[in-house]
Amino acid sequence: MKIYNTLTRRKEEFVPIEEKKVRMYVCGPTVYNYIHIGNARPMIVFDTVRRFFEYKGYQVNYVSNFTDVDDKIIKKANEEGVDASEISERFIKEVKRDMKAMNVKEASTHPKATEEIDGMIAMIETLIEKGHAYEKNGTVYFRTRSFQDYGKLSKKNIDDLEAGHRDIKVAGEEEKEDPLDFVLWKPKKEGEPYWESPWSDGRPGWHIECSVMSKKYLGDEIDIHAGGEDLIFPHHENEIAQSEAANGKTFSRYWMHNGFLNIDNKKMSKSEGNFFTVREIEEKYPLQVLRFFMLSAHYRSPLNFSKELMEASKNGLERITTAVFNLEHLMKAADTENDAPLSDPARKVLEELDKLQRRFNEAMEDDFNTADAISVIFDMVKLANTSLTENSAYVLLKAVYDRILLLCDVLGIEAVRETEILDEEIEKLIAERQAARKEKNFARADEIRKQLSEQGIVLEDTREGVRWKRV
Ligand code: AMP
Ligand code: ZN
Repeated sequence: MKIYNTLTRRKEEFVPIEEKKVRMYVCGPTVYNYIHIGNARPMIVFDTVRRFFEYKGYQVNYVSNFTDVDDKIIKKANEEGVDASEISERFIKEVKRDMKAMNVKEASTHPKATEEIDGMIAMIETLIEKGHAYEKNGTVYFRTRSFQDYGKLSKKNIDDLEAGHRDIKVAGEEEKEDPLDFVLWKPKKEGEPYWESPWSDGRPGWHIECSVMSKKYLGDEIDIHAGGEDLIFPHHENEIAQSEAANGKTFSRYWMHNGFLNIDNKKMSKSEGNFFTVREIEEKYPLQVLRFFMLSAHYRSPLNFSKELMEASKNGLERITTAVFNLEHLMKAADTENDAPLSDPARKVLEELDKLQRRFNEAMEDDFNTADAISVIFDMVKLANTSLTENSAYVLLKAVYDRILLLCDVLGIEAVRETEILDEEIEKLIAERQAARKEKNFARADEIRKQLSEQGIVLEDTREGVRWKRV
């Protein structure tokens, strides 16, 4: 299996630390709002990487954090007049719900930064002892130049970085030994959440969080560390510096980064305001259309969001679910008792099926080429549509059906269509959802929305009540 490694800028054969096991860390979101579909890209992409490893028989220890202490969370908490933890807890729930609705599997562990402070203090102490960090007025800085390999991931030259920094004077940073040094621990400001430490009452810097959570749940050395390409510098570069300086071992063997999700060829981001939340998309499409759209491009390529591409994804997905639906009908009508040997043409279809699965594997083994993998599934659908009839043997129908479902599942796509839902049932479920919301049972209300969404029914909450439509 080949993976493009940002560290070497090459595709490399994947060799795990432990045979048939993968230790994988994916940088998770900062939880202060609903996630937008740009944030959803790494979630979907790396969940698919995980699913493919599992399909290949690997046991994957998948860790993805929630950054639940951060300036943006504190700002939002102050605006609402509540504790920062109330904001982060609320949005962890919402993010988890979105992940489930996009068929992103729960991580083996979803650590929260605020629950790992002791580990962070311990790692910072080690860094100070080893001469890689120092304290000034309650703030602890990483001594960037003390780490020989600094810049190896982002391919930045430390002297160029220094030159770029010289003109930029940041208030409060005069105390640093070197402008390149970055914060590991900072003292609290008035009204901020804080923890006690040997240096000050304060909180950790963002980069140290991931180094510590990765170490605790996966060990000093891991196989894959992943995130969006905007994290390469400084976040991942700094993580490498901290972890390798503290542990004295290679931190991660492979570094994977997804390309941006763009709108009008510009990165979708909260700060630019050019984003759609996952919730907004869910009002128009079942979220598996979004997932299918994300996987229709290679994960390292930029992907431009557009209505046309979403419509194309919806149609493509429908082609698959229709074929699966038809196969179900043929299977129901077929004679399951018939154990006559398969005809020559039937055996040919089975051979073709194996060939297609091999092509699917090859596409995925080539740095997770999901676009090609999807085209193989389309070829399988074509095979089903052109070679199978009501006269086909049950075992053959079942073999094709199972294989399509298996490959769709690797991509996290549920190809089995729910049976057609009647208008009265929809109305009944909507009434139940309204009642659940009244009782503040939002989990149940969300569940109903998802159930309807999976059947192509989208809800719109308006002032006059709930409207629904089939999409
Ligand atoms: P953040 O909450 O901004 O730290 O982002 C969480 C994850 O989403 C990180 O892995 C980011 O790299 C990723 N991300 C943010 N915006 C985009 C985008 N427009 N396209 C792809 N990935 C993104
Ligand atoms: Zn991280």
